[in-house]
Amino acid sequence: MREQFPILQREVNGYPLVYLDNAATTQKPQVVIDAMNHYYSNSNANVHRAVHTLAGEATDGYEACRTTLKKRFNAEKVIITGGTTEAINLVAHAWGRANLSPGDAVVLTEMEHHSDIVPWQMLAKELEIELRYVPVQEDLTLDMEILEASLEGAKLVCVVHISNVLGVCNPVEKIISLANQNGAKVLLDAAQSVPHQSVDFQELGADFMAFSAHKMCGPTGIGALLVANDVFEEMEPFMGGGDMIETVSIHGSTYQTNEHKFEAGTPKIAEAIGWNAALEWMDNIDLESEHSRLLTLARWLSKELRSMGMTVYGRHDDNDAAVVSFLHPTMNSEDLAHLLDARGYAVRTGHHCAQPLLERLKITGTVRASLYFYNSKEEVENFVKQLSDILERFA
Ligand code: PMP
Repeated sequence: MREQFPILQREVNGYPLVYLDNAATTQKPQVVIDAMNHYYSNSNANVHRAVHTLAGEATDGYEACRTTLKKRFNAEKVIITGGTTEAINLVAHAWGRANLSPGDAVVLTEMEHHSDIVPWQMLAKELEIELRYVPVQEDLTLDMEILEASLEGAKLVCVVHISNVLGVCNPVEKIISLANQNGAKVLLDAAQSVPHQSVDFQELGADFMAFSAHKMCGPTGIGALLVANDVFEEMEPFMGGGDMIETVSIHGSTYQTNEHKFEAGTPKIAEAIGWNAALEWMDNIDLESEHSRLLTLARWLSKELRSMGMTVYGRHDDNDAAVVSFLHPTMNSEDLAHLLDARGYAVRTGHHCAQPLLERLKITGTVRASLYFYNSKEEVENFVKQLSDILERFA
């Protein structure tokens, strides 16, 4: 596994790289890099517009990514976007503007990433819609009573499937069923869940699902919005331009009726080809056994961190992701991260784009170690050794 990731062969500050920042972005296997190189070296052309051979290859490569996504997630409509953030903004503009009116409510949670808060705040200002936030409780779960009460008159519920700060997996089946009973649509931010678990979009019953390629071994700058068939018909185009139209005259335009309607302009061709290679590569990974291996490591790491006097923000229940956020009682997180980097360890610090959640936890940031397929038990054990050495010397 590790040999397939060229970056893992490098050293950082004279030490082998130990990459523990996977919730921010994952590394790319050679097959993904090769697929993108091959496209630029052999097939580079624009899609959908010309009859020449290269254009055909580029179009086939781009559309193959959509086909793979449809199959992998059992979705009928897959709009290719620039990532989770763009996918959520697309829901706000393409569905929100056409279907929300002043006084309508949108339910969010305090666990959301900024990308699932700010677009709604911007829209709320413009449309005078009400935003209702579901609190996160002491045990790091959502307050389901408040969630249920918030559904009264709500048009949309936006919820993060797995928190990028806590690794907590929210009970999305229950939330979708409650929302459905109340006639509200559901947008799932699956940025942190699809890298770790298989999700059947139609079976789950969400209306929208957003995620990014780069968190699942694919390239940056590309992601997807899955949309339920009936809801797709309620969306109006957001960006106008080439490729999304059927006809244009000076008197007006008509639009494509499929996903292209929401993909104006030259799309992310090399990225789609790279993502497709990543998705095919992931087909050979047993996600369930990887999930349990990584969760076992995360639980062990949390226990060790607690025994060193750290506060760990996470519970690592069976469906949670291997994300371990922690704080030392006195030592500054940035200092700790710098000292770890000096020994080759890449961890994240800061608010992780989830300030409302951190406010609820009464902290301003954490150190976050997040694991993925190529992280070994040995790396996690060495991480603990290095941390305890750092604490002995500097804390
Ligand atoms: N939601 C969650 C839960 C995330 O972890 C992230 C990335 N940190 C995003 C949304 C935004 O993803 P992107 O930056 O790829 O658009």
